[in-house]
Amino acid sequence: TAQKETLGFQTEVKQLLNLMIHSLYSNKEIFLRELVSNSSDAADKLRFLALSQGDLYQGDADLRVRISANKEANTITISDNGIGMTRDEVISSLGTIAKSGTAEFFKNLTGDQSKDSQLIGQFGVGFYSAFIVADLVTVRTRKAGETTAYEWESQGEGEYTLQEIEKEGRGTDIILHLRDEEKEFADDYRLRGIVTKYSDHISTPVQMFKAEVPESEGEDGEKIPAVPGEWESINRATALWTRDKSELSDEEYKEFYKHVSHDWEDPLSWAHNKVEGKTEYTSLLYIPKKAPFDLWNRERQSGLKLYVQRVFVMDDAEQFMPSYLRFVKGLLDSNDLPLNVSREILQDNKVTQAIRKGCTSRIIKMLERMAKNKADDYQVFWNEFGQVMKEGPAEDAANKEAVCKLLRFSSTHTDSETQDVSLEQYVERMNEGQDKIYYVVADTFTSAKNSPHLEIFRKKGIEVLLLSDRVDEWMMSHLTEFADKQLQSITRGDLDLGKLDDEETKKAQEESEKEMAGLVERIKTALGDDVKEVRFTHRLTDSPACVVSDDNDMSSQMQKLMESVGQ
Ligand code: ADP
Ligand code: MG
Repeated sequence: TAQKETLGFQTEVKQLLNLMIHSLYSNKEIFLRELVSNSSDAADKLRFLALSQGDLYQGDADLRVRISANKEANTITISDNGIGMTRDEVISSLGTIAKSGTAEFFKNLTGDQSKDSQLIGQFGVGFYSAFIVADLVTVRTRKAGETTAYEWESQGEGEYTLQEIEKEGRGTDIILHLRDEEKEFADDYRLRGIVTKYSDHISTPVQMFKAEVPESEGEDGEKIPAVPGEWESINRATALWTRDKSELSDEEYKEFYKHVSHDWEDPLSWAHNKVEGKTEYTSLLYIPKKAPFDLWNRERQSGLKLYVQRVFVMDDAEQFMPSYLRFVKGLLDSNDLPLNVSREILQDNKVTQAIRKGCTSRIIKMLERMAKNKADDYQVFWNEFGQVMKEGPAEDAANKEAVCKLLRFSSTHTDSETQDVSLEQYVERMNEGQDKIYYVVADTFTSAKNSPHLEIFRKKGIEVLLLSDRVDEWMMSHLTEFADKQLQSITRGDLDLGKLDDEETKKAQEESEKEMAGLVERIKTALGDDVKEVRFTHRLTDSPACVVSDDNDMSSQMQKLMESVGQ
């Protein structure tokens, strides 16, 4: 027989385990949701592969998850006949966190458990949640189409063992050896309750064994035959999104979100729609409450789960959402795409385009409604995802106006760092005679707020948008107009306040300009080639001088942005 190897967990896995056990002590039962969710994913993956390789089923095509408890041994077993795992897959799935940027993220944890467990939430709980209730976990798995099986075993303390074993049938068995204090879970009745609560929407049947009823005698002495024991499905096992909206509760939508998104928090909002007509599809789209730590990672996977006629086809189909909506989670079930659809086919496809258009406007509508009716939720959304939404005006010409209305800014109206001013509000508050929307871009909020360029605006009581996010300069280069008003940077050299300057002031300004001409010349000579020009200005009221950029030059923020990407 092959020998047993001992391997180490990735450092981050150890940290994750620690934090998870600490933060989920009041919600331990979710381990079952996570393991059933994985088994259901494994069934989905096998069903998809079997579309092209029918022999993978090997006579066992009824995919299901079975749960059983053994009170004496104090164990729970979750067993599926899904896709299973190869040796390499076991090592990468159950010994590491396969997300780029993970190590960096963990380095930034504070060490304060309660704070860190908030941050860790976005990882999803997943397989490791088994250790919340178990002090020894055994995984026995055989990949569909392979003959060799493997056993993985760990106490969740830094290392695990791996060895070849004999296993009848493909799929994965997970055996939880419960901690003494978690004995209560080794109970059929308890487990049933948990499955109904968390996994009713799982489309794979979840079964538990109904014990045999022995032969008995009726009242008048006749024999009642024994009823043999059997595996019985205890969940509804219909795909949630195929059900009617009216019969679905918020709770069901939320649980389903956790299954598709691997998030452990509730979603902020969702939209469930059946579209009929030229293209037919169902979409169930969710907006998360928290941005993932790797939202800015270029290699990050995003996108929707794709089903074709209720058969799972792929995860992370990114073709159905524009990039500025890459935080959206959920699924699509198309009736028009072929079952053998590939990422390449999706790339350039009329159906894809139609669905993408539909989904984009669903999300925009959902956000518009939230902004209007649930301002607090919208602020949560904006604080998490606003920076991504700011890519919208450049990326989505067709929805530019709607996206612009969804943008939120800091402004001199409140001088608060919270971005909560919309362009519509700004326009409504504009002064008489004002025909432009003014803004300033700086590196930080503080320097935007204290920009010397603001002096004249504050004096005249003109509101200015204060921008300091990394994407702002770039966004503004695509956002030149809103509601027929030009957007105007107040740091541009040729700033003209137009009608906002009255005649008298203008005359006085011209005179002082003449008086100062000599001084300007002297400064010009002193600075020489370091500057392009020295100009007299009326825009400063307290500061003696400031640096501005020429209309055709890059602004200082943009220069820094270019430098930061190595240009
Ligand atoms: P996630 O489900 O978010 O990918 P998990 O921690 O729940 O993360 O699971 C990690 C990985 O382990 C899964 O992506 C899958 O590849 C593998 N895995 C877990 N359970 C099973 C199972 N029952 N059958 C096959 N693969 C599994
Ligand atoms: Mg999982």
